[in-house]
Amino acid sequence: MTDQTPDTVSVLNSDTPIMAFAQLQLAAPLARAVAEMGYESMTPIQAQAIPVVLQGRDVMGAAQTGTGKTAAFALPLMQRMLKHENASTSPARHPVRALVLLPTRELADQVADNIKLYGKYTNLRSAVVFGGMDMKPQTLELKKGVEVLVATPGRLLDHIEAKNCVLNQVEYVVLDEADRMLDIGFLPDLQRILSFLPKQRITLLFSATFSPEIKRLANSYLQDPVLVEVARSNATASTVEQHFYSVEGEDKRHALHQILKDRGLKQAFVFVNSKLGCARLARSLEHEGLKTTALHGDKSQDERLKALEAFKSGEVDLLVATDVAARGLDIKDVPAVFNFDIPFHAEDYVHRIGRTGRAGAAGLAVTFVSKSDARLVADVERLLKTKIELEPVVYDEDLPDIRKQGHINDGRRLYQQEPGDTRREEFAARVPRAPRNDYRREPVKSQDPFFSKPYEPPVLAPGTAPSWEAAAAHPGARTVSSNIKAAKRKVAALFKSV
Ligand code: AMP
Repeated sequence: MTDQTPDTVSVLNSDTPIMAFAQLQLAAPLARAVAEMGYESMTPIQAQAIPVVLQGRDVMGAAQTGTGKTAAFALPLMQRMLKHENASTSPARHPVRALVLLPTRELADQVADNIKLYGKYTNLRSAVVFGGMDMKPQTLELKKGVEVLVATPGRLLDHIEAKNCVLNQVEYVVLDEADRMLDIGFLPDLQRILSFLPKQRITLLFSATFSPEIKRLANSYLQDPVLVEVARSNATASTVEQHFYSVEGEDKRHALHQILKDRGLKQAFVFVNSKLGCARLARSLEHEGLKTTALHGDKSQDERLKALEAFKSGEVDLLVATDVAARGLDIKDVPAVFNFDIPFHAEDYVHRIGRTGRAGAAGLAVTFVSKSDARLVADVERLLKTKIELEPVVYDEDLPDIRKQGHINDGRRLYQQEPGDTRREEFAARVPRAPRNDYRREPVKSQDPFFSKPYEPPVLAPGTAPSWEAAAAHPGARTVSSNIKAAKRKVAALFKSV
């Protein structure tokens, strides 16, 4: 990072000295839980964030799930909350003090599981609420009183409206995977939830990317935040081997079989762009002899958790998933990720390949690119700041030709070519012709521009409330924030009607 402000902590990279948990002087019950989980040294995000959160500062963290982010916020928050710890059975003695918001049920479940483990030797209670499940058991738990509440925004609002929880004693808010919460359209829900919370609080915002919208969200809700970030792109470049193969839609499954065979892969994530494509592809692959399960938004919560378990236990080899369903899932040791469809949003490319090559393990990311994907490839190139070299797939003679077994709707979206737009032709010229089965090609290295641009904290006059908070404090005067771009007009319209 170049332009550092006093509130900006440098990017940690592989040269940064590793810090042991012992150096933190965590309270005994937390230290014991951490030791039991086998954590010895802190991950970069933990080394940066924990001391800052312990000081009671707002944090804007650039880190993905899988970097040890949960402990990075949960441990220092729990340490701060230990002063309220008590063994009383009275719900009044266990008000919600920390609220952790996440965009998906799976993520909420995962984060809550970890928080339970970190707090296992304390008297701090934690609970998770998310949609797609019966509200009753959640209500019972809330009514007993919990100090740490993990939630997805929609379901939390349901509980607030049903008066199942009171948030007027919340001291800490964590907005986790904030970029995805905005993508899913949770902005109005977030705004409503934040309006129920005390103004005096510590807010931690984590996001894998700092889009302008995220920066605006942070500028509005965070007070004098400290930026902590980890050099995710470097970690990705050094541990994930990335290849882009030129494959047309009807050949993609055949190519998948070939690469699984060539690489001797036992398990992989396969990403597609549509729910329909997801279900169909999973079915076809299953027919073709691969143990496959699908994870997409149309599946019930129960089915999704089962699919996940089946993959984690090794019962299935392939997990075919859409982005929203798979976002942030902590599944260790996935040897490979296939982008059966190149993602519509280049940022999802980074999220997807983050499923492999975790914690220093070698990973493989394979992306299938067809001729109509020119624009999407250009987007990924721009994000990675690298020219993508397309490779051909060479098929073995003896690989059964599944191409003859029917066509799959692979969820691709064709873009309209404007007159004079030659991108498709230029792209077609780049498609390799001579078949070469060269997997030893130098993998693509990503240089995420995001981390080279430091976050600039807002310059707020002392005592000035962030604009959105000010709007929430005067509901009658609520206007559409200038922070909301034209593309978010639907969301803005919702604000007006609140
Ligand atoms: P998270 O990014 O919080 O989802 O964490 C990803 C995985 O890393 C989880 O399985 C954690 O249990 C694990 N983990 C977190 N911090 C550490 C650490 N310091 N040492 C080893 N494993 C960790």
